[in-house]
Amino acid sequence: MNEAQKELLRQLPDVDTLLQRSAFQSLQKSRNVVRDAIRTVLEHRRRAILEGRWEMPFSPELFDQAVMSHIQDADRGHLRRVINGTGTVLHTNLGRAVLAPELAQNIADLVSHYNNLEYDLTLRKRGRRDDHVRELLCRLTEAEDALVVNNNAAAVLLVLTSLVSGKEVVISRGELVEIGGSFRIPDVIEQSGCFIREVGTTNKTHLADYERVIGEATGALMKVHTSNYRIVGFTESVDAADLAGLAHSKHLPCIQDLGSGLFIDLETLGLPHEPTVREAISAGCDVVTFSGDKLLGGPQAGIIVGKANYIAAMRRHPLIRALRVDKMTLAGLEGTLRLYRDEEALQKIPTLAALAQSSDLCHKRGAALAAALAAAGLPADIALIEVDDSVGGGACPGVVMPGWGVAIRPMSGSAVELEAGLRKADCPIIARIQHDALVLSVRTVADDEFSDIVRAMKAFFQA
Ligand SMILES: *Cc1c(COP(=O)(O)O)cnc(C)c1O
Repeated sequence: MNEAQKELLRQLPDVDTLLQRSAFQSLQKSRNVVRDAIRTVLEHRRRAILEGRWEMPFSPELFDQAVMSHIQDADRGHLRRVINGTGTVLHTNLGRAVLAPELAQNIADLVSHYNNLEYDLTLRKRGRRDDHVRELLCRLTEAEDALVVNNNAAAVLLVLTSLVSGKEVVISRGELVEIGGSFRIPDVIEQSGCFIREVGTTNKTHLADYERVIGEATGALMKVHTSNYRIVGFTESVDAADLAGLAHSKHLPCIQDLGSGLFIDLETLGLPHEPTVREAISAGCDVVTFSGDKLLGGPQAGIIVGKANYIAAMRRHPLIRALRVDKMTLAGLEGTLRLYRDEEALQKIPTLAALAQSSDLCHKRGAALAAALAAAGLPADIALIEVDDSVGGGACPGVVMPGWGVAIRPMSGSAVELEAGLRKADCPIIARIQHDALVLSVRTVADDEFSDIVRAMKAFFQA
């Protein structure tokens, strides 16, 4: 430490002196919050001086500002709303499916009051929490019974643990999927106390491959939808109906993990066909599992539908208590399912609406955003450009949805700086960088977020 650094450190007042500053007297904050903020900023300042990053004499005004912005940051909470400008509809890092906004009021109302989560209002006795969505799920999927757990990984774990533990589950080598975030089907199978019996090859598996290994030790046949990759070329897999037929002839359950839960045909949105839950059930699968927050467009949940006797066994399993969902989830799920029942899903579920957005509509909305940004007079080039959007969430791999976006190229400074600045905005904006421009795809941005974007851009360029 040199003399200059020593002098700078000496200039720093102590916490109690700083607490008396008038800027902090008028704050509507407890003394503890202000003291903590002062301590933190002082600590940062000391470190900056010691590391040679701060060489200015102590300025009370600058210090006040630093403390204020620290308090503001702390006020915003750690989990925050962001604007998704990436064009990836089910963005795993940005909370996956966006719930229909009209459900929010009901969820807020339910969770800030008592509710009948486990109370039967007709019979005046204890009820079951998944009764709130059971009928809807059965009606929408044509399954006999339904159960909801924390996520689809939990659903697969519960199904295998309760139905196949100690036995073999037969599965194609082409379907030993890794989902990401350390979810691998073989690991889950092991965790549930089952033994994997792999059949076939990576690219081809025939019905006879399954048939050959079925024996005393077999507990179930399983099909996993290869949702996040595609094997192309010389390939063959056994379809659900044939696998279910084989399973039933041997008195075994046929389990299918669908990954994404679809209640509508993706082809109606101009996307390639993916199996729907109803198709899996009508193919004869005894148990079908899927996520609540992928293509279904609801809250994070794992949904299990299928034959009543199997679901009943899962309900009795001790794991169910560890995997059960909260009232917030059930409120969001019930609301989402009702939109499907009322045939309003395509319009009102943001995930489906985003997927259904035509290139023409994206073009129109992109032009509106570009015009709003141009009108703000930013020192940047603004251009309407074509972009490749994607479904995300490990669904529809390789599928590109043609969309439109706005490319913003600052006249001075770089797109990298702009990107970093927007990430620090009051409502952080997450965007891509392409060819030295910041690119905002409009598919994943709501109309009412356009003005937030304009405001954040203005703030960035004025700072
Ligand atoms: C996504 C996925 C899972 C995991 O679902 P979560 O809801 O994320 O736990 C399991 N299986 C398949 C095939 C998937 O695509």
